[in-house]
Amino acid sequence: MTPRQTRTQRLAMPLARDVVRDLAVTHGGCIRPVQLRRTDIHTGQVEQVLVPRGHTLATVCPSCAERAKALRAAQCREGWHLEAEPVITPDDPDDVQLMWVEHRAETQQHRDQAEAAGQDTGELDELSAELDEEITRSGVRGNVLPGRPERRHRSTRRRQDAPDLPRRAVAPRTIGKTYTAPDGKTFRPSMFITLTCDSYGKVGADGTPVNPAAYDYQRAARDALHFAALFDRLVQNLRRFLGYDLQYFAAVEPQKRLAPHVHVAIRGTVSRTELRQVLAATYHQVWWPPADEIKHDDARLPVWHDASGRYLDPATGEFLPAWDEAPDAIGDDDEPLHVARFGPRFDAQGVLAGSKDSARCIGYLTKYLTKQIADCHQAQTDAPAAHAAHLADALRYEPCSPTCANWLRYGVQPKNPREGLRPGRCTGKAHRREYLGYAGRRVLVSRKWSGKTLADHRADRKAWLLETLGIADTDPARYTWEPVTPGDPDHMPPGQRLLHVVADRQKWHAALTNARARASGQSAANLSATGSAA
Ligand SMILES: [Zn+2]
Ligand SMILES: [Zn+2]
Repeated sequence: MTPRQTRTQRLAMPLARDVVRDLAVTHGGCIRPVQLRRTDIHTGQVEQVLVPRGHTLATVCPSCAERAKALRAAQCREGWHLEAEPVITPDDPDDVQLMWVEHRAETQQHRDQAEAAGQDTGELDELSAELDEEITRSGVRGNVLPGRPERRHRSTRRRQDAPDLPRRAVAPRTIGKTYTAPDGKTFRPSMFITLTCDSYGKVGADGTPVNPAAYDYQRAARDALHFAALFDRLVQNLRRFLGYDLQYFAAVEPQKRLAPHVHVAIRGTVSRTELRQVLAATYHQVWWPPADEIKHDDARLPVWHDASGRYLDPATGEFLPAWDEAPDAIGDDDEPLHVARFGPRFDAQGVLAGSKDSARCIGYLTKYLTKQIADCHQAQTDAPAAHAAHLADALRYEPCSPTCANWLRYGVQPKNPREGLRPGRCTGKAHRREYLGYAGRRVLVSRKWSGKTLADHRADRKAWLLETLGIADTDPARYTWEPVTPGDPDHMPPGQRLLHVVADRQKWHAALTNARARASGQSAANLSATGSAA
């Protein structure tokens, strides 16, 4: 008879489902797989296939997050030191025109996506207009978008494109220059650059303000909200200054003081002096209505008027100015709501292909990709937690976009208004604690970095695996695929899926170990015994 166990002893025993989950993670298997039913249309045979869901956060699925990170590292590595142009462009005088039109197409797509997501398109509209000018300057007649409304009048003060910076014609080249050493060896150096935001007040070693009352949380919040636009602007300025179609792979993450910073791998080099010059001339002006004076606090919120679909001031009964009218009210003598700039401190180093430095920098670039922005630095003591809470408070009533509910607080009707908007309750990601004000993409990759999309890199990986295993890719036309839903008789509950994932991964590992052994002429048994198996 087994001896009776105490409750504490029983609780200390591992739970079977946790063991299976951990085993799946150890084997790199997805712990939240999608179940698909695969039918062979020749034989009618039905098989259940568990497909990784592909989460990028380690808190959701460590295996998928690790795979996504490895893929990003591969993408970064491939593009950094390219020696030939990644896409074949005809070598005739129209290269420049082609390049501008391609940039224009990309900008249009980003703009339309931003609009669909209810985000601010101001910066991208501005950029489109600048690119239209470049297209015209390059000798193309007409407009890429005929009938596009005239560019809103902007005084020279509102120009975003760093007029003080020397400007060169941008060549369509995307790869860096080579340098020849006295011994005849040639180098094609690339760079690793880290850019930070300005100071908002002195911070201690743990990243928290020495004097929280004097720390400029509002500016910190606004810089974070507009960080993506600022980075975009920097890239445009660098391209014009350096005179080639600079390519980058960048990762945005928070510093300990919770301000975003960006690690950037660029192809080619720029001197520290030149970089300092471009950084000093780069800024992003936010021409939004003023948001410093509270016109409607929670006790006097604007009221929704159903018949007109507008908000009105409960005290006067007048409509609030609509978003589209608001920018017209900004006079030539008014200041922008915010001017985002990088701080004067930066880090820049040259990196050679295949060097130890290169591998170390790729490590930096992908280090935090499996984590939520706010989870990159875990608060161990009260001070960092209080600092994070303080920043979240500053972000709560800060307008995040033209559609932000917070505009009501400052007496402006947000873009695309609807009933039930409440300041402080905007659903924009930037207000959420886990984003720290930066709701943009964590990895920013220019289009001609490696000349491949993430899907291409994924396909490369698969092709490599299939080749290593010596098996042919399945013919996609041979199968039909259907998702299996909880009501279906063949639906597997999560526990059962995990067991299948573990079994599948074990089979893969064995096959891979065997293939590697065959390749190196060893027997599989030897290889696993020495522990060098995958
Ligand atoms: Zn997964
Ligand atoms: Zn908002």
